[in-house]
Amino acid sequence: MAKILVTGGTGYIGSHTVVELLKSNHEVVIADNLINSSIDVLDGIEKICGKRPDFVKIDLADSKAARDLFSTHKDLDAVIHFAALKAVGESVNHPLKYYRNNIFSLINVIEGITKQGISHLIFSSSCTVYGLPDRLPVTESTPVKSANSPYGNTKQIAEEILSESCSVNKNINCISLRYFNPVGAHESALIGELPLGVPNNLLPFITQTAAGLREQLSVFGDDYDTPDGTGVRDYIHVVDLAHAHMAALDRLIAQNNDTNYEVYNVGTGNGHSVMEVIQSFEKVSGVELSYKKVARREGDIAAIYADTSFAEQKLGWKAKLNLDAMTSSAWKWEQSLRSKKG
Ligand code: NAD
Ligand code: UDP
Repeated sequence: MAKILVTGGTGYIGSHTVVELLKSNHEVVIADNLINSSIDVLDGIEKICGKRPDFVKIDLADSKAARDLFSTHKDLDAVIHFAALKAVGESVNHPLKYYRNNIFSLINVIEGITKQGISHLIFSSSCTVYGLPDRLPVTESTPVKSANSPYGNTKQIAEEILSESCSVNKNINCISLRYFNPVGAHESALIGELPLGVPNNLLPFITQTAAGLREQLSVFGDDYDTPDGTGVRDYIHVVDLAHAHMAALDRLIAQNNDTNYEVYNVGTGNGHSVMEVIQSFEKVSGVELSYKKVARREGDIAAIYADTSFAEQKLGWKAKLNLDAMTSSAWKWEQSLRSKKG
């Protein structure tokens, strides 16, 4: 059993990971400023696990507050750093907000673990670092392309900061996980994604349309060079993603890592088009979705999916849940949200 600090632990991916950590009898402290999540998430976690994680409300970009957090939690074994702002469009209009929040938080976390002698760190990166890849599937050695948003740039800069910090400080052991497209929710429908306002992402937009909150889904582009002309992504169930963090943590704690900075793709390895996601959703929900095909969305690429063999080989982790499990759990979560709101 280890004691783990989970930053951003009341957020979407963080909360699902906290559930897996508690189920494995780890002790968890969540640090979150609730800028994009709700304190009620702790109730959902407790209902699933029968245990409530400790919670500290803190802005990790505030260096003094972060120093206090680490000095009052000296006995941590590892940190999983999810906390970040993630809205691509907002980052284009407010770049400094994104650089300040995401980069300052990361620096404060690295300084905190260094000062307290905590050696294990897992960081949330993204497949956005690959930009428009020349070849598919992308491997971890596929070149990183220049970012097309300040948000994407914060992930690239963060990876550089981590790689450089690890190269000078061999006491830090870090794994960056490059997530592909996380979707779905816990099977209990007690935790899930809580998009603020109109969702930008495909699956929450689909479930909100089916629930009657949105009139119609716009399918952005049907003239891509893909089998049915719509965009292709590597959707990964958030519970599979949570398990990838468990595998990364096990690797660090067992000191099985080959180098003190490792990077892994975390996807299923399968690309699905927008139309395939819609068809899966209609099949599992029995709801006929209102959608129309419109022009491409600016900044979108045609297709991206992961080569996951490195994670399979080194982390002993492989995604298990298929597209229908993703769309049905997302729908169950949407319905549970609607029933709560009456
Ligand atoms: P989320 O917004 O649901 O969770 C992030 C959490 O961090 C929120 O609870 C928010 O309140 C908190 N937070 C943000 N800034 C903070 C700060 N300064 N101090 C303390 N807490 C702060 O997002 P998520 O989808 O769970 O994403 C988690 C991580 O994964 C992020 O780093 C994100 O960039 C990365 N990621 C997400 C996706 C995705 O599609 N969801 C894809 C790739 C990478
Ligand atoms: N998409 C769409 N309509 C929407 C939202 C997304 O057609 O309302 C498409 C988008 O063009 C992309 C895929 O769905 O091909 C996934 O988009 P999302 O924003 O969920 O993730 P991204 O990969 O862009 O980060």
